[in-house]
Amino acid sequence: HKHGVTDFDAMTDLSKKLRASLHACAEVRLPKIIFEQPSLDGTVKWVMELADGQRIETVYIPDGNRSTVCVSSQVGCALDCSFCSTAQQGFNRNLTVGEIIGQVWHATRQMGKAPTNVVMMGMGEPLANFEPVVSAMDLMQDDLAYILSKYRVTISTSGIVPNLYRLREVSDVSLAVSLHAPDNALRDELVPINRRYPLEELIPACREFVRNDKRRKVTWEYVMLDGVNDSISHAKALIRLLEGTPSKMNLIPFNPFPGTSYRSSPPERIEAFRQKLMKAGIMANLRKTRGDDIDAACGQLVGKVQDRSGRTLVSLRQRHTRELAS
Ligand code: SAH
Repeated sequence: HKHGVTDFDAMTDLSKKLRASLHACAEVRLPKIIFEQPSLDGTVKWVMELADGQRIETVYIPDGNRSTVCVSSQVGCALDCSFCSTAQQGFNRNLTVGEIIGQVWHATRQMGKAPTNVVMMGMGEPLANFEPVVSAMDLMQDDLAYILSKYRVTISTSGIVPNLYRLREVSDVSLAVSLHAPDNALRDELVPINRRYPLEELIPACREFVRNDKRRKVTWEYVMLDGVNDSISHAKALIRLLEGTPSKMNLIPFNPFPGTSYRSSPPERIEAFRQKLMKAGIMANLRKTRGDDIDAACGQLVGKVQDRSGRTLVSLRQRHTRELAS
């Protein structure tokens, strides 16, 4: 990973014997980039094709001295959040460790240096693909690979509670949680996994996750949906919900995609919401929308998901594009 060498024979710092056994039992297979799309703001989206023809998306986001790679963990997603376009694709399969870390490999080689941050915020639910995601996050932090600090690798989850407890045992990374609603009734509708793991289970699990490290806070992701979850009374309910949990709030303007009936909250309402949280002592940021001109923003990654027979599932976006074309 560090030297970017793909040929075992060129790994001359390994013994001949080890190189020979690597030849016999392993391969280095790089992701196949079928599409590279740069955005006006410097963000780059790569579409990668996997050995079985499935496609995933990876996004590179430069920001001053920082550079963040947004990595996918699954082909599609099974969780069906109502405001996310990846959900429209359905779910095909988990990614392997190689396919996950291959995205970081590619970004590093392409940009000529390792990223400063990695976020598991691409397609898929990382905690639904537990072992490969943990192994890949270990490699991101490994001194012999990408050497990222534990504060610069972030897993984002919609809240698979038992796996949050498991993760805490085996890994030390930053935690982001897709909250999006302050009560169960609304969250059941927006993030259906909430029906299985409701807020009264999710919040304590998150609090537990950051308990042993004073530097850590839970980053809550909250998509601002016009007229749905963006009123001052929602903000008040959030403040009550998060009392006692070290928290940072990332407000995300809703990124639209074809076929959705949601709209983003207007900027003044987002600002009023943010101010309400700030006054209650909750650090709240408006997440800048990056790469939206190339459909690389949060919730806009669609890849190309195939069903078991290899038939491509036509996404709403593709259908829309096709309709426009005709
Ligand atoms: N499945 C994980 C990883 C995805 S992270 C998770 O749910 O956390 C991507 C983030 O973008 C999540 O917080 C997700 O809820 C949010 N998101 C999804 N669709 C969006 C959209 N259309 N606009 C803005 N944010 C969206």
